Amino acid sequence: MAGSEPPPRPCGRLAPSPTGYLHLGNARSFLLAWLQMRNMGGRVILRIEDLDTQRAAPNAAQQIVRDLCWLGLDWDNQLTPDYFQSNRFPMYQQALATLQERGLIYPCFCSRKELRSIASAPHGSDGPIYPGTCRQLTQAQQQQRSQEKSPAFRCKVSQGTVVEQHDEVAGLQREDVAQTTGDFIVARADGVVSYQLAVVVDDLAMGVTHVLRGDDLLGSAPRQILLYRTFGATPPTFAHVPLILGEDGVRLAKRHGAVALRELRESGINAKQLVGWLAWSCGILDRPEPATAMELIGEFSLQSITREATWLDASALSFFSSR
Ligand code: GLU
Repeated sequence: MAGSEPPPRPCGRLAPSPTGYLHLGNARSFLLAWLQMRNMGGRVILRIEDLDTQRAAPNAAQQIVRDLCWLGLDWDNQLTPDYFQSNRFPMYQQALATLQERGLIYPCFCSRKELRSIASAPHGSDGPIYPGTCRQLTQAQQQQRSQEKSPAFRCKVSQGTVVEQHDEVAGLQREDVAQTTGDFIVARADGVVSYQLAVVVDDLAMGVTHVLRGDDLLGSAPRQILLYRTFGATPPTFAHVPLILGEDGVRLAKRHGAVALRELRESGINAKQLVGWLAWSCGILDRPEPATAMELIGEFSLQSITREATWLDASALSFFSSR
């Protein structure tokens, strides 16, 4: 269309939570997010998602930087304090105020137990659908309840809110958010905003056009898309890539043994060996041959990424340690 704005330069992000060491699964998603942007000539942002400051491990950000550098990944921002979510609370409060002015959120006085895990990204089930208990409260009731306890805030999801989106790896997704999540939390009673809101505020503020991440967050995309809509903004393009699972078929975690990048690095494993294996395990390379991240830029294509999770069995682990 004549006079329309040129499309923004592609921008992706690496958004680790500093709750523990990066492992092979994180490494593969970050490698793919980085490759996607470098392949498109786009920008890469590193943002530390330490929203839940109590869960953040000390020095975890430095460790993450070290691990990412070891993998051969880089980024285009300086990792200044404003790329740490713990320093961005004023922006989140502003977003909350906007939602409140528009009548899109309401205070919720339901129990703390129910609200506990909301600042961390929901890897897996997100809990029960909220039945809408506090949505019915009158203003007078809200005021009265607020004197007893400070409320959390929920975003209203009206019946029949269907979000349809084309995920670049997972394919067409269609979700009736009122049926899957219901009114969802955007801030806890202690004022900490939810992962869902923080990630949208940040991606918008940082000009992120492409989100590529593990498919354990596929179920978060519809709520994030709804938030983009409430802010009158265009959502980024989403690509949710399969995970690496432990031998028990569960998302990788510490208990699966030597899967932390730090341990692999310290045991003398060659980063090229690892990066090549990661690229092969998700379909970017035909064979598990050593490669640097840079060498893989030309090989990247979303179409080649497998749709199935990779099971990290003993043979994969011995593959690393044999070299
Ligand atoms: N920080 C989140 C995590 O550790 C990722 C958030 C995102 O990519 O949207 O899983």
